[in-house]
Amino acid sequence: PVVTRFAPSPTGALHIGGARTALFNWLYARGHGGTFLLRIEDTDRARSTPENRQAILDGLSWLGLDWDGEPVSQAEGAARHAEVAQQMLAEGTAYKCFATQEEIDAFREAARAEGRSTLFRSPWRDVPEAEHPDAPYAIRVKAPLDGSLTLEDAVQGSVTVGGDQLDDMVLLRSDGSPVYMLAVVVDDHDMGVTHVIRGDDHLSNTFRQMLVYRAMGWDLPVFAHIPLIHGPDGKKLSKRHGATGAAEYQALGYPAAAMRNYLTRLGWSHADDEFFTDAQAREWFDLSGIGRAPARLDFKKLDNLSRQHIAAADDAALMQELEAFLVATGAAPLKPGQKERVLLAMPHLKERAKGFPELLEKAEFALAERPIVPDEKAAKALDAESRGILADLTPPMQDASWTREALEAIVAAAAEARGLGLGKLAGPLRAALAGRTATPSVFDMMLVLGRDESLARITEAAQ
Ligand code: GLU
Repeated sequence: PVVTRFAPSPTGALHIGGARTALFNWLYARGHGGTFLLRIEDTDRARSTPENRQAILDGLSWLGLDWDGEPVSQAEGAARHAEVAQQMLAEGTAYKCFATQEEIDAFREAARAEGRSTLFRSPWRDVPEAEHPDAPYAIRVKAPLDGSLTLEDAVQGSVTVGGDQLDDMVLLRSDGSPVYMLAVVVDDHDMGVTHVIRGDDHLSNTFRQMLVYRAMGWDLPVFAHIPLIHGPDGKKLSKRHGATGAAEYQALGYPAAAMRNYLTRLGWSHADDEFFTDAQAREWFDLSGIGRAPARLDFKKLDNLSRQHIAAADDAALMQELEAFLVATGAAPLKPGQKERVLLAMPHLKERAKGFPELLEKAEFALAERPIVPDEKAAKALDAESRGILADLTPPMQDASWTREALEAIVAAAAEARGLGLGKLAGPLRAALAGRTATPSVFDMMLVLGRDESLARITEAAQ
């Protein structure tokens, strides 16, 4: 059975790159009937905060990336990590190193001066126990001195590192605390992780981690090191490119499904497919579709996908997400009456909206409450002649059946009676119904608002 995990360090909020890593792991697990675990790598006590941890969980929840079980805290596993270091020591795959920081620094300095490799080679590697001093020591892994290590990476292919590139890394510091590189391996092993999908900035770490797997006789998981996300200009992603945090995209009003689709396509491809559903993504996602070149952020593409996802979404589900967006951005929640109208209007609102802010702008007529205060442009559309036309429209509307056909016929008749084009009537009607000039069609608005509310707005504007 497939087990994947997302292992963020809570030293910041959820970054867009982290969100994509989580998404790939989630997709892979969900597509293979597997398990997706969440491990908070909080061993850096100084930089890990509960606020960041919560921000990461919130970001994942917003994106709909549900994890299995409770999030695991890496720091809480310190005793188990130390136990593994002790076992390696007992089995001779690790050793006690009594070198002090000064000695290590001196070694490096001399190596640099002589143009040798600065990888620390501990003089304690082969010193028998009987000759050990009574002094603090670190536990170091015994890395191979020659030969090489080869990783068969699911994305990077076969990658080899010479033994001379690997030092005897510290596993347990002299104060008894385990290092991160050990903790990752022990946790992945103990959690039964079968596939490690992570950024390729971790590739060189993997070789050091492989030493622990080897020493413990543990099977390696499948590693898939994915290229990082770059900005539209191909340079390393940074703030100057625009939004870099998952929460920023939420605040910009992209629906989560669009974000999932977009992030899935960022570095992974399936034929020429751009727009796809979650079900398709789960079915199609595989490691072989991950590219080796860094993906570039493309905001236009995100906007396009977002429009398509909004148009394709179920009205009630979209309504729910819209309400969550209002909460997340600190806006006032919808009143029951507003909610009812927005839901009725949803089929019109969701056409060509790239995000919730646009959708809300189109929904203005459904959100507005009488008296409708026209904006500047709409006020101009309500001149004396227009007000006269509006007044003429109300009696036939009183009695008409409230259908699109009937309303169209009334407006057409009024236009004809005055020798005007239909467009001349649409302006004042938009202004009356919405207080705006850019709105959904006047008939869509009247059908959503209903007879009483529509007539009340038209009558008020006609005065
Ligand atoms: N905690 C690491 C990070 O946030 C991830 C390590 C891993 O996925 O193995 O970069």
